[in-house]
Amino acid sequence: MQQNSHKAGFVSIVGNPNVGKSTLLNSLLGERLSITTPKAQTTRHGVCGILNGDDFQVVYTDTPGILTPAYALQQSMMRAVHQALIDIDVLLWVIDVHTQDNQADLPIKSSSNTLPTLLLINKVDLVDQTQLDKIVYNWTWKAKADAIIPISALKKFNTAQVLRHILTYLPDHPPYYPKDMLTDKPSRFFAAEIIREQLFRKYNQEIPYSVEVVIESFKQEATIIKICAIIYVEKTSQKAILIGRQGASIKKIGILARKMLEQFFGAPVFLAQHVKVLAGWRNQKKWLYRFGYDRR
Ligand code: GDP
Ligand code: MG
Repeated sequence: MQQNSHKAGFVSIVGNPNVGKSTLLNSLLGERLSITTPKAQTTRHGVCGILNGDDFQVVYTDTPGILTPAYALQQSMMRAVHQALIDIDVLLWVIDVHTQDNQADLPIKSSSNTLPTLLLINKVDLVDQTQLDKIVYNWTWKAKADAIIPISALKKFNTAQVLRHILTYLPDHPPYYPKDMLTDKPSRFFAAEIIREQLFRKYNQEIPYSVEVVIESFKQEATIIKICAIIYVEKTSQKAILIGRQGASIKKIGILARKMLEQFFGAPVFLAQHVKVLAGWRNQKKWLYRFGYDRR
């Protein structure tokens, strides 16, 4: 009897900050797994998302945007990018329609590399067809990629094409994970991310880059999930802003975050939040390790 073939492999989503990598992961999965905001440096960890089909399994990793690190947290973020490049089957290099060719090194330099690389030009919904033709033509000359695909992660334009291309490069292999698994990250990770997403969306300037969310307890009860989160900031002044007058700001964050948590977990959520000051945490290896960075 002939055995049905099954493809499986690891695919990483890499590129500059803010080009839409996390939005793309979510579109490819059809699930809102990785947090996305208009701000750069939203993603701090490699985020695993698994797409299961009858005869394939794609294990995606979304990564932080590539930058020159200025402090220890950013060094950890760049280690997460490098980690995500090890032993993968396909690389999705994401740029957007505004990316200049001196800003996207990898596909240009990786000519000797044998790793199948798809150059995805994202946010094509922001330009007209004439502009897009020019952009694609330009990259066709400059990028050493196996395919160049214009996409809109936000509008799900051409994302099915991306999967089709990936599948042509995946080896025959049994699934790496159970076929009903969506991620290898625990619920606590996503709970912290969802709260951090609201903080990133609400606050500007240095606050988003100074916050870290730690889930102190996560209790799944019969009818409700009880979550207790600690929000760390770096300065007393940031704590005051975050809490707001008579706690109004933190309350708003809590309401928005709880709604998103309930959507994500599909159950009612009780959320308690505490704000604490931890001076200089983002430059201290000890704290970064406790917060889950560099653990892989
Ligand atoms: P990342 O830093 O590369 O992970 O980028 P995100 O996925 O967080 O997206 C950054 C911003 O770009 C967000 O405001 C997204 O809504 C927006 N964005 C992502 N994809 C698209 C797209 O296809 N079109 C448009 N217009 N905006 C997009
Ligand atoms: Mg991201």
